[in-house]
Amino acid sequence: MKSSYYTLRKVSLGLITGSLVFAATTASMLSSKAVQAIENTSTSALQFTDQTDLHNIAQAMSAKRIETDIRTLVSFGTRHTLSETESDVRGIGAARRWIKSEFDKISAECGGCLEVFYQSQVISGERRIPNATEVVNVIAIQKGTSDPTRYVMMSGDIDSRVSDVMDFSSDSPGANDNASGVAGTLEAARVLSKYKFHGSIVYAALSGEEQGLFGGKILAEHAQKNNWRLKAVLNNDMIGNIEGVNGVINNTTARIFAEGTRQTESAEEARLRRFTGGEVDSPSRNLARYIDLMADRYIANLDTMVIYRLDRFRRGGHHRPFNDLGYAGVRIMETNENYNRQHQDLRTENGIVYGDTIDGVDFDYAAKLTALNAVSLAGMANAPTPPAKVSISGAVQPSTTLSWAAADADQNPQLKGYKIYWRLTDAPQWQYSKYVGKVTEATLENVVIDNYFFGVASVSEDGYESPVVYPGAAGAFGE
Ligand SMILES: [Zn+2]
Repeated sequence: MKSSYYTLRKVSLGLITGSLVFAATTASMLSSKAVQAIENTSTSALQFTDQTDLHNIAQAMSAKRIETDIRTLVSFGTRHTLSETESDVRGIGAARRWIKSEFDKISAECGGCLEVFYQSQVISGERRIPNATEVVNVIAIQKGTSDPTRYVMMSGDIDSRVSDVMDFSSDSPGANDNASGVAGTLEAARVLSKYKFHGSIVYAALSGEEQGLFGGKILAEHAQKNNWRLKAVLNNDMIGNIEGVNGVINNTTARIFAEGTRQTESAEEARLRRFTGGEVDSPSRNLARYIDLMADRYIANLDTMVIYRLDRFRRGGHHRPFNDLGYAGVRIMETNENYNRQHQDLRTENGIVYGDTIDGVDFDYAAKLTALNAVSLAGMANAPTPPAKVSISGAVQPSTTLSWAAADADQNPQLKGYKIYWRLTDAPQWQYSKYVGKVTEATLENVVIDNYFFGVASVSEDGYESPVVYPGAAGAFGE
């Protein structure tokens, strides 16, 4: 997302003097030097911090390894959820055992830093899973050093399908949908497992997506039952196609789908939101804004389009079961889809080649989107926990006051303090920010509450930031 810096300046000169810093929106246009040049009078402000580790993480993604992994996943013939599980060379059983062995290998290389396990449930009596079938996810968890019960997650889907969603025996390569997402998740684990983070990172290969989002559902329930403080789900579903069915070829953009008001909102919360706002500031939206900034800062030649909807029109993905339970979650995917290569029997008809085969995947592009995931996960896992219990006041006053709960000191030894963000109500990305220190309340003098949306982020000593949290239940990331 690119936005105009003209607006920033105008407002800053008109309203605020002193310790204001612009860190957010225009990182894509302004280098950190430029930001400092604009606001070099700033005293207490924390400057935009460019993280060397995040650049290194982005650079380390290997298109070659992603290609190898997609080829391996395709080689299992079909990965349909109802396909056979006994064979070592064909079917979803072979595929998930291979994925587990890859996670185990990655873990062995980091001294056992990943906890690798299957997570499953037997599903039956469903339209697309009529007979008892064990839907099995493969999970790897990299435990955080100081705040292990706080999680961020990246996921892709193991299962594939062809034209008939119940056809479990025909060849169903699912190269882009969604071997690309699984290969990206494995590659992110390979690179991020070389680092240590304050919070935990979950790498998830989910099953049962095409049959009705079952793998996501059982993992979301597992997270809830085990009291995971799950702050972000980055679901990757089709991250390798750059040739749209409409003829557009583009490898420089990606989409982030993020729902609006949260599904778990109560009637009372909805009533309150009507008077305080928050329709465009669910935690999923602010997670999407966070990832959008990460693309601007760390991923060359990639601009993301944050899309204000749960998913594609009337279509689904594995972030939804997490959203259903109130967790922040988005779908990351290519901008240009090719429907001839999705959910199709392998065939040629009227000169058109159908099927989700390996030649439809651009590995460099998949690596780029994987890098976007990895820097976002790393940024959040290094940052302190997103502020909890954020509230705001300021009606019929010249100034706006935000308050929040202090982050647990043992869980967040890296906490430096907090940063207030605000933006015009029709601006897509946070525009203004002010570092306010290690406090739990801050007032923006002469900034009128009616004219902006506000939020607060936590900041680490070395400059990592959490997503921005909008006040009240509408924007909460939980405790
Ligand atoms: Zn699909």
